[in-house]
Amino acid sequence: SDVTLSVRDVKKHFTVGKGQSVKAVDGVSFDVYKGETFGLVGESGCGKSTIGRTILGLYDKSGGEVLFQEKDVHQLDPEEKFDFYKKMQMIFQDPYASLNPRSTVREIIAEPMEVHNLYPDKKEQTEKVMELLEEVGLSRDHANRYPHEFSGGQRQRIGIARALALNPSFIVADEPISALDVSVQAQVVNLLRKLQQEKELTYLFIAHDLSMVKHISDRIGVMYLGNMVELTSSDQLYQEPLHPYTQALLSSIPIPDPDIEEKRERIVLKGELPSPINPPSGCVFHTRCPHATEICKQKVPRWQEVEPKHYVACHLYEEA
Ligand code: SF4
Ligand code: MG
Repeated sequence: SDVTLSVRDVKKHFTVGKGQSVKAVDGVSFDVYKGETFGLVGESGCGKSTIGRTILGLYDKSGGEVLFQEKDVHQLDPEEKFDFYKKMQMIFQDPYASLNPRSTVREIIAEPMEVHNLYPDKKEQTEKVMELLEEVGLSRDHANRYPHEFSGGQRQRIGIARALALNPSFIVADEPISALDVSVQAQVVNLLRKLQQEKELTYLFIAHDLSMVKHISDRIGVMYLGNMVELTSSDQLYQEPLHPYTQALLSSIPIPDPDIEEKRERIVLKGELPSPINPPSGCVFHTRCPHATEICKQKVPRWQEVEPKHYVACHLYEEA
């Protein structure tokens, strides 16, 4: 398949007081194929949102490169950058915070169109806004209302309509359903899937737990403390998680399939997530891993393809 986004050994370190550095993202690589949904999963603080923002060029990188349609997103000239933001857009976790409370829905959705002068004909622009409202399951009557008049789910629909205003091909969705009621989460996921099919969108879907991501993702990358620890197809990850951290994440969600449930015991991780200022030596997961041995404290496990298209970084799977 066509690679549309290539993240290569990307690092993002933030300097905090006294010259200390937070290794928010510490050498992560993955490709996203055209038309797929790539799920990026991990606890809060693992670096997944930082990757999202680095991909969008909102953050500089500390190392590595991000190629979107073969162009380095951190080396774009202003014109290319303008064009890039037409193709790549973001949906945020908190739709309320990302929508201007003093603007009407029409103004909110039209704003990116104005910035990019997409529809010099204002009637055309209004018509496009109305179409988008309908596409996200709202009605034309909503156009002149304000964000506070909507429910959380409806506000996320407005955020989605806004993200679609420039006809992007790639959407970074940063925990788009985490703030919503469970009953509404499925509706928003279904909407995202419908839009994906209709508009041939590619998604990077960021989430902190695996329960909903399974339903939307083709492939999933699991992150822990700035590192990617496992990457494979969604099905493979659920049926045969290899990394101890993935196993723990999966064990905490109920699985309706009785065959899998039988084999899956709840794994409770000891300790807290360590600070990314001073991450553990060797395998960053060793302080919490039920399978850790001496080598795990000393040696960083290699990122390797242990079976076709299934990548993992763990000494348990390294050849002696
Ligand atoms: Fe656990 Fe060691 Fe594997 Fe890290 S390398 S996940 S500590 S077994
Ligand atoms: Mg986040």
